[in-house]
This record gives sequence, structure tokens and C-alpha cells, in this order.
Amino acid sequence: MQKTAKCAVFMGHNVPFEVREYPVTTPPKGYGASRLLASGVCGTDLHIHSGRLGGDPETIIGHEFVGQLFDCDPAEAAEYGLKIGDNVIADIAVPCGECPLCLAGDDANCVRMQCTNEDHVDHAPYLFGGYAEVNYTPLANLLKIPEGLDPRMVCTFACPGPTALHAFSLAKRANIDIPAMKTAVVQGLGPVGMFAAMWLCAVGVENVYAVSTGKNPDRDALALTFGVKKVFRLNEENAVDAMTAELLEATGGLGVDLVYEASGAPSAVPVGLNLLRNRGVYLIPGQYSNHGDIAISPQLITFKALQILGSSQYSMVDVRDYLAFLSDHPELHQRILALGTGYAVEDVNRAFEDAYAGKNVKTMLVMEK
Ligand SMILES: [Zn+2]
Ligand SMILES: [Zn+2]
Repeated sequence: MQKTAKCAVFMGHNVPFEVREYPVTTPPKGYGASRLLASGVCGTDLHIHSGRLGGDPETIIGHEFVGQLFDCDPAEAAEYGLKIGDNVIADIAVPCGECPLCLAGDDANCVRMQCTNEDHVDHAPYLFGGYAEVNYTPLANLLKIPEGLDPRMVCTFACPGPTALHAFSLAKRANIDIPAMKTAVVQGLGPVGMFAAMWLCAVGVENVYAVSTGKNPDRDALALTFGVKKVFRLNEENAVDAMTAELLEATGGLGVDLVYEASGAPSAVPVGLNLLRNRGVYLIPGQYSNHGDIAISPQLITFKALQILGSSQYSMVDVRDYLAFLSDHPELHQRILALGTGYAVEDVNRAFEDAYAGKNVKTMLVMEK
């Protein structure tokens, strides 16, 4: 095993990451050390780097780490169903386990949530975050990736997948039967929207539509390969009115059963409210950072008796559901694998430039390209 590991250290908003090297040491009690296989650059990381979300300098950000477990106490690992050599996915969320949300079985919405990657990089064993060749994570936060699932493929939607699934799981908790729905619209085709669209098609929703900016034709085409019926492009003339009219007609004048907001654009929300039928369901996991306010027509919520659910974090349960979904759908694997573009850890700043430019569907740091 290597004696040192490179990592990309977050130095503050809008300044380049610093690439440093730290010694690889024996993991502390309760921790596992894993060697990088793939680590995703998330939209959240771009928000942190650009200053839209908080983040402390001299930490290793990155929360989509997939690696191979190479050092831990075997007896401790066994308690979590893990052993050395396993491919693992790390979940950074540490719910308190004691607040009303945790006690109600909804620990993704814990009011005292902590994260495993917040420590200062000078604090041994240094490498807590995802942007590193070696990662230290509590064994309780590692999940074994089943044999037969390519780790890089798993990394593609490592956070967008569970994020999307958590919104669906909140709908299920509210007794909403999404697979039985006929017509759904996904707003936004970033990673969360793409995964949500893929999932809706895979679970059998008959007509899945998507809405995109139209600036990324490759992504629109990709959505169609996952079974999306049509992508409405907002850069086309009269786009919102034309889409609304077409979807009303397609649903016999009723409106759609489900809208899934994954664009992050406040302007998407009044459009979504308008598209829904009476008792329609609006899932809103996409508004993850503050892009300003928007006027809505609250009477639509009342008169259509809408069901609106927000969703933000996810927990280990959702990561487990994500792995199960991938295992159940081998037909998707090759297409998902093709979405990732890998960069070495030392090329982190180039990876971020390309991610900002929207060049890749999924940007990830990898050990071997
Ligand atoms: Zn993420
Ligand atoms: Zn809690």
C-alpha cells in the first residue's frame, strides 16, 4: 500500500484547490481506510466552491467517495457486514439518532445532522473528505457495494441517486403510489433530474417527460434513451405555454400526476404548480441553494388540493436503496457507466473548470484513468 496519498484541499470560495500529500496511517478505532476508485464532483461542491453554500477552508470536501476498503479492525468491520477488500460507498451523513425526526425513522431530516468530512486537514488521519486518494470514514458510514456492480458506475449517481430516491421515499411515507402514476414531468436534467427520470421510467410510470434548458442537447438525447417520452426545451420560443398546452391535451385536460423539481431554478416552481392535476404531487428536492424569490399563485395549491413535498438530505437507507436499484436494473449499467469523466486528484482544478462549464454529465476524481 502507498505510504502517502494526494488530496485536494478546499482553500476558500473561488480560489483554486491546493493539492497536498499526507501520510497514510492506521485508521482510528471505528474507522475504515479505503483506496480511491472514484469520487464525484457534486453540484453541492460547486456551490461550496463558488460561495453559494458555506464550507470551511482547509478541509477536504467531496461526499461521493467510492473506494476499496484496505485497512480496518476486521472484527469491527464484521459488525457492519464489511471486510478488507470490499468495494464500499461512503455516506457522510451522521444523524444524531435522538431528535424527533430520527426517532420517527426519518433520520435524513435530523435536526442535528453532522458530517464525516468536516474536520480540518491538519487533524490526523487528515483524509476525511472525498477528494483524496485515500479516505477515512467511520465503518458505520460505509456500505458494501454488491459484487457485479462496477464501482465507477456506482459513483455516477452516488449522491444524486439517493437524493432523488429520498424524495420518492417521502412520497411513499405519505401513501403516494408513484409507480401507479400515468404521467410525470421532471424539471431539470442535471444528475438528480436524470436519475429521477430514469427511475420513473424503470418503475413503470407510463409517460415520463422532462424539461431542460435546451443548452445541452446531448443530455436531452440521453434522457430519451432512458425512456423519457419527450424533452421540452425552455430555450425554444413560447416554450412554457406550448408545453403546458401539450401536457394538458395529453392528459385529457386534467394535468399531470407528478412534477419532480430538479432544476434549482425558482422560475420552475410556478410552472410546475400549473402543470399538475387536482391532487397532483409536487416533489421539490431541487432548490438546493438560494437563487432568489419567485411569485407563485397559492390558490392553485388550495383549489387543486396539491400535495407538495420538499426533500433535501438522504441517509444510509437511501444509499442502500440506490444500490438495490442498480442491482435490479443491469440493463442500465453500461449507459450509466458511460456518463462519467475521470480526472486524477492533482487535476482537481481542471475537473472543476470542466464541471462549471457543464462539459461532463458527471465529473469524478479517479485513481486510474
Ligand atoms: Zn452531492
Ligand atoms: Zn436526529
